[in-house]
Amino acid sequence: MNYAERVERLRAQMRRERVPAMLVSYLPNVRYLTGFSGSNGLLLVTDDEAVFWTDSRYREQAAKEVAGAEVRIPATGNITAAASRRVARLKRVAVEADRVTLAAAGQLFDQRRSYVAARGWVERLRAVKDDNEVAAIRRSVQLASSVFDKAVRQIKPGRCETQIAGHLEFAMRAAGGEGVAFETIVASGWHAAHVHGRASAKTVSAGEFVILDYGVILGGYVSDMTRTIHVGEVSTRDREVYRAVLEAQLAGIDAVAPGVAASQVDAAARSVLEKARLGEAFSHSTGHGLGLEIHEWPRLARRSRQRLETGNVITIEPGAYFPGWGGVRIEDVVLVTSSGAEVLTPTPKELVVV
Ligand code: ZN
Ligand code: ZN
Repeated sequence: MNYAERVERLRAQMRRERVPAMLVSYLPNVRYLTGFSGSNGLLLVTDDEAVFWTDSRYREQAAKEVAGAEVRIPATGNITAAASRRVARLKRVAVEADRVTLAAAGQLFDQRRSYVAARGWVERLRAVKDDNEVAAIRRSVQLASSVFDKAVRQIKPGRCETQIAGHLEFAMRAAGGEGVAFETIVASGWHAAHVHGRASAKTVSAGEFVILDYGVILGGYVSDMTRTIHVGEVSTRDREVYRAVLEAQLAGIDAVAPGVAASQVDAAARSVLEKARLGEAFSHSTGHGLGLEIHEWPRLARRSRQRLETGNVITIEPGAYFPGWGGVRIEDVVLVTSSGAEVLTPTPKELVVV
């Protein structure tokens, strides 16, 4: 990863905002800019300097990982106090307004120093992935997809959701995954009507849909996929809802191209479900960016103001949910390319019946 170039891109953003320094405290942003993957670190970027503070636990890790910034380890172990002494010499410094705690703000600033509340400066950069990041996400997506068939074999009447989730997560770890990208969702029958129904003690029964929504972390990058499997005989209604959600998902992917408003992609998927009289049943947004974190820019929602750019990596995940009946959702990871879209998730989307 080219960290020095990323720091340069942040400096360009700082110049646009006319702020000579920025203190980056949000760890995924620190990692994006320096490569540091530990749990305690602060980065100060000025016109001509990049200083990174961590504590002595991370001495070796920082020496190995951090690129493009000078590593400092304060003897006291208090990195906020150390950064505060450096910040005291600056007239104005940008801080991540949504990420700094009141306690840290109290340590960093007093009445004599003014700060600029920065929102999304690094997140905006992170939305556009470079080739190395795309390759990392591709590997993460492939790992998640590779355990899908194993997970499906675990779905049978009488099995409870947590058991299925356990097998799925074990398979991902055994295949080299660094962890789950988010809490694995296994939601069956009526439980699938809860959009974020984490795996519970509910057992799977014949005649139900089962939503599997999961992802893995590999090389620091996450994946995110959803497939909905049917157990036992499929009713006409079940088949209709599944087909409509799949058509909506394909329409969403079709709409993806650089320059397109994110809200347009949402509208493309949503209109298919509205035509099928399932508009009300689609109760969430169509997708989100992902990368080092599971929810990144851009957001693909009705009121999103962002536009897609080449290098965005997003999910397309429409669904339909009815209380008491259940739900269907289908989700792929999609790369925005200069000519349109590339679906990174290789798993087929025809209805799987077990
Ligand atoms: Zn998902
Ligand atoms: Zn998602």
